[in-house]
Amino acid sequence: MSAIHCTLSTFLTSEDLLIAQGNLYGGTTEYIQEIKEKIGFKLLKADLNKPDEIGTVHSNGETYIFGETPSNPDLQCIDLQGLASWADMNNATTIIDNTFATPILQRPLEFGIDYVIHSTTKYLNGHGNALGGAIVTCHKQLLHEKIWKTLKLNGLQANPFDVFLCTQGIKTLALRMNRACANATRIATFLNKHEAVNRVNYPGLKSHKSHNIAQKQMNDYGAMMSFECIGGYDAAKRFTSELEMISITPTLGNLDSLVLHPASMSHINVDREDRLKHGITDGLIRLSVGIEKVEDIMDDIKSALFMNTSS
Ligand SMILES: *Cc1c(COP(=O)(O)O)cnc(C)c1O
Repeated sequence: MSAIHCTLSTFLTSEDLLIAQGNLYGGTTEYIQEIKEKIGFKLLKADLNKPDEIGTVHSNGETYIFGETPSNPDLQCIDLQGLASWADMNNATTIIDNTFATPILQRPLEFGIDYVIHSTTKYLNGHGNALGGAIVTCHKQLLHEKIWKTLKLNGLQANPFDVFLCTQGIKTLALRMNRACANATRIATFLNKHEAVNRVNYPGLKSHKSHNIAQKQMNDYGAMMSFECIGGYDAAKRFTSELEMISITPTLGNLDSLVLHPASMSHINVDREDRLKHGITDGLIRLSVGIEKVEDIMDDIKSALFMNTSS
């Protein structure tokens, strides 16, 4: 969050326009709403895969675009090359939150994106024991002169011990991603065939809306997915409470597999109609697949889902 704050608060003024996708990480959505009221820039929510629908940008100031791909929790992907070339033509600056993909799977700068943000709290550290963020850009001068200044004057640096842990964790990032992606592919295929599951959102599945985009710009499909339990809210709650190995937690990207039930956790304060528009149904479960033995993860899911098929 401090990487996002550092980037956006460095640039945005009351003259500017911020174009953001509707289904950003909850904290980011809330943060943008907060600073919009304080700074007074114009905010436009748009589908970043359809930049032509945004039309001509009439802004007296600068235009910034903020997106996440794959997104949380429905794993929709944004065509980064398409977005970057639209931004180029319209003189807009692009910022992409790359937390779900990590640099192992996706490097937005190579597609022409201006700024990339990571929550190092997730995969980059990977051990769930430190908080931090990163800002990556090819605009080195702006980074050093402007962003660095915001960082320093607002005290947004990560603390040294967390940095130490992250530099340890990041050494195994490639190994961890490799294993987690392989596990995720197996689990997504298994869930997709399961009788207690309605729909699986995983970019690696051909049935997923963003499969083609993901295939084009990612090296692998990641280890995040979501799926809908048949039976809605109660079935999803029953599933999470029956899990024995997998923990229920709002974080993601750890060595261990983790689940979140958005309707009762991350989106509990979001209007039901609003979350339904973004596919966050009552029975939706978000799963962060870890690097455990895949059969162990599958067994835990299987027996927890069994309660839903047997009732
Ligand atoms: C967790 C997360 C954040 C916020 O990161 P913190 O390290 O918790 O501040 C931002 N974006 C995405 C996509 C995330 O998953």
